[in-house]
Amino acid sequence: MAKFQNIMEILKVLPKTNCRQCREKTCMAFAAAVFKGEKELALCPYVPAEVIEKYGTQKLKTRNIDEDLDNAVNQLKQKIRQTDLAAAAGRTGGRYDGQKLTLKVMGKDFGVDADGNLHTDIHANPWVTAPILNYILCCQGTPLTGQWTSMRELPSGKDWYHFFQHQCEKALKKLADSYTDLFEDLVHLFDGKQVENHYQSDVSVVLRPLPLVPLLICYWRAEEGMASNLNLFFDTTAEENLGIQGLYALGTGITRMFQKLAQRHGVPVSSIN
Ligand code: SF4
Repeated sequence: MAKFQNIMEILKVLPKTNCRQCREKTCMAFAAAVFKGEKELALCPYVPAEVIEKYGTQKLKTRNIDEDLDNAVNQLKQKIRQTDLAAAAGRTGGRYDGQKLTLKVMGKDFGVDADGNLHTDIHANPWVTAPILNYILCCQGTPLTGQWTSMRELPSGKDWYHFFQHQCEKALKKLADSYTDLFEDLVHLFDGKQVENHYQSDVSVVLRPLPLVPLLICYWRAEEGMASNLNLFFDTTAEENLGIQGLYALGTGITRMFQKLAQRHGVPVSSIN
């Protein structure tokens, strides 16, 4: 029986009409539920019979997404072994010292050598490592425009925004609501730059998770009758330099990193997750 390797493969066999007959809000949400083993592919009445036959009517075995990511990181390391790191340094805004390519990741060095070994002090979870390696492999080197845009407005962002909003923006908002030193820590520990307030936010901080993929975090504090809010913005070139899946993974990885940081500072887990 064939197996889907990722959510996008499942999405490709769906009509993308978001008709909700599968009781998910979008085809993308349904694809993710199938990938996680929570829904059967056959619950979408529009999947052709031959596809159901190929992939089976049963739910996929419940998958451990972190395990999948570890596998993805190992596959990316293998591709790194076939990559010209000196040329990649030119495209990615990194530097090559004859042995390894080093990128600045939120102010800290992240190196990878020709054997795919990582050299870094960052406590990088696979959600962060995978997009960094992907960036080295796929970054087109498109210069930044300096113009910010939301994930939803990126060329392929519409399908991913629902997940991104849930996994990253809402999770970070919850974190910012309870961990009041968050933005100060982003500036001091992760080389963030407090910038002029964008979109009339109360706090605007720019991070550089990758040289050609800056991230703008805007936070609005709760006010009388108004809940707090947090949005993330990318440079308009972000998809060319990391790809939409890479941006989603990066946002999720950064969110997890900051959640761990907050826990280390004594913020209760219940206020974070
Ligand atoms: S039933 Fe199929 S087409 Fe309709 S939303 Fe669900 S996955 Fe998409």
